[in-house]
Amino acid sequence: MRYPSSYSGMLTQSPSLPAVPVEVTPEPEGLKLEFEANRQPALFWPAPQLHPHAYRKADLTVLRFGQEPVLALEVVSPIFAEHIRQAYPAAVFHRNALPAAKPNRSALYLLLLLLIGGLLACYFFVLPALADWAVRQLPPEAEVKLGQQLYAQTVDPNDVDTARTKEVNRFLQELRVVTQYPLQVTVVNQETVNAFALPGGQLVVYTGLLNRLKSPEELAALLGHEFAHSQHRHTLRALARSLSTYLLVSLLFNDISGLAALLLENADQLDSLQYSRSLEEEADEQGFLLLKANRLAPQGMQRLFQRLQEAVPAGAEPPALLSTHPLTADRLAHLQELMKRHPYQPTPAPAPALQQIWARLDTATQ
Ligand SMILES: [Zn+2]
Repeated sequence: MRYPSSYSGMLTQSPSLPAVPVEVTPEPEGLKLEFEANRQPALFWPAPQLHPHAYRKADLTVLRFGQEPVLALEVVSPIFAEHIRQAYPAAVFHRNALPAAKPNRSALYLLLLLLIGGLLACYFFVLPALADWAVRQLPPEAEVKLGQQLYAQTVDPNDVDTARTKEVNRFLQELRVVTQYPLQVTVVNQETVNAFALPGGQLVVYTGLLNRLKSPEELAALLGHEFAHSQHRHTLRALARSLSTYLLVSLLFNDISGLAALLLENADQLDSLQYSRSLEEEADEQGFLLLKANRLAPQGMQRLFQRLQEAVPAGAEPPALLSTHPLTADRLAHLQELMKRHPYQPTPAPAPALQQIWARLDTATQ
């Protein structure tokens, strides 16, 4: 390519003076700068002394030269930069012919804020949604299998109260719960006032809680509530959500089966798993509907809440089932609402079969 022998440029010799026009001639050893009408003697900038932070923006090329005050030369030309690049291949300024855009500070903060906001949104909305999605991908058979594995990890067979486990299962069958899962309750000999649900229809009730119940209606309400957590995959969802960061990683690696392994590693969380308020309300509603389906007195549910509340010694940590659940007052208010929404006439006494099983359970307590 043939370059012009000279270019028009503007030279700034001091920050306080206006730029003056110059004629710029690339010579073999450097740039010659000549002033209009020879107002000033011509300048010669040896190529090696051109400042390396010369830069180029579109057609504008800026070169700097000398010590303070630094002289600045601006040339607007689509080929000037290319010309001096060819003319002085060893000069440093050729390397950053394109400027590094100076980041705007406020833009940087905004970007940072957006990034943090994005991460938070990811944590609070995207990950939970992902967790729910992954849970929906799990077929029921896999869920049942997972529930059995979790059960094996959470319940020590030596702690199982087999006699009462049998009775409580009979009781649950009498309630005629409709489910796609093989329903199974286990009574575990443990003083903790607690009950929890595993995925795939596995329920666990501790004797510490069972011993406090005073009527079959209370037991029905408890089983209905825990059953709902399993039936509506609350447990699986809550577990997946609490592990959703890891879940994201396993999804990124396209390995859904990793979820099951992950859940198994976290089986110890199961008896103190926290559900969202709406899931708890759903579980209470299911418990209530089970009472209604069996025409058991709705007060059974109210008394269940009271038993849980009573189990908290003054100043002590509330049991997990209570601490992880909404306030008793809120649950009672929700129960009142349910009674209004689903009115029914309970039978004066529970069905004889339920009463008989309850009596046997009660004797088993002694
Ligand atoms: Zn619950």
